[in-house]
Amino acid sequence: MPELPEVETIVADLRPHLVGRTIVHCELRFPAIVRHPEPERFIDSITGLRIEGVGRRGKFMLIALGAGRMLVVHLGMSGQLRLVDAGVEIENHTHVILDLDDSRQLRYRDPRRFGRMLLGTEEELLTSGTLPKLGPEPIDPTFDADELYKRFRKRRAPLKALLLDQAMVAGVGNIYADESLHRARLRPDRAAGSLSRKSVRRLHESLRDALEAAIRNRGSSVDTYRDAWGEIGNQQESLLVYGRAGEPCFTCGRPLSILRIAGRTTVFCRRCQR
Ligand SMILES: [Zn+2]
Repeated sequence: MPELPEVETIVADLRPHLVGRTIVHCELRFPAIVRHPEPERFIDSITGLRIEGVGRRGKFMLIALGAGRMLVVHLGMSGQLRLVDAGVEIENHTHVILDLDDSRQLRYRDPRRFGRMLLGTEEELLTSGTLPKLGPEPIDPTFDADELYKRFRKRRAPLKALLLDQAMVAGVGNIYADESLHRARLRPDRAAGSLSRKSVRRLHESLRDALEAAIRNRGSSVDTYRDAWGEIGNQQESLLVYGRAGEPCFTCGRPLSILRIAGRTTVFCRRCQR
């Protein structure tokens, strides 16, 4: 599933190509991908709008369309947003095609169909419940370790579950939760409220390091993730624990253990993580 670094890679790649372009036509081949407003209104509303900005919040892509409106794209499990020339053959599972005024198309493809698109002002989308309220951005310089400590205090939930909670911190999924806990030498099943300030500082730094390293490497293609040009990322080559259950820990050599937390497979080292 694309997480913060994967979405950030796509956003940064698309921004210079999309800003200033106008959406001249919209085709919904699988209308249920649009969750707000009604698909017909979505098509009417988006046609003719000029793209003013391309940003990200958590795992959501935010395409600013003037007057406070935005197109929100969430890639779900297997979503891919690609910019291609209009003549390029349309792949299977392409659900949305936005024609731009430079004869290119922004295409949304999603074999598993867990992704979604929304159109509206932030207020409208929050009110309709289609856009969830998100916690702070873990790589935002104003989000410090004290803030994370306050959020963890008195919480009995396991660390891993809280890292996955988008209202706690935005953008972290299974890959970077496991990676940052390993870097911080903390067990994923430890109660969040049991951490000392010092341990929280270590986790805060590890989280940022894991995400920034992945952004530099253009994301992890552990499954179907592709960038805006259809290319894979490189971070999967450098992952320390994700997907490595039973393989030796790079630090101590002991086989990595597996646990299920919050319904998700969790890999960690019993010796290095406490
Ligand atoms: Zn180890």
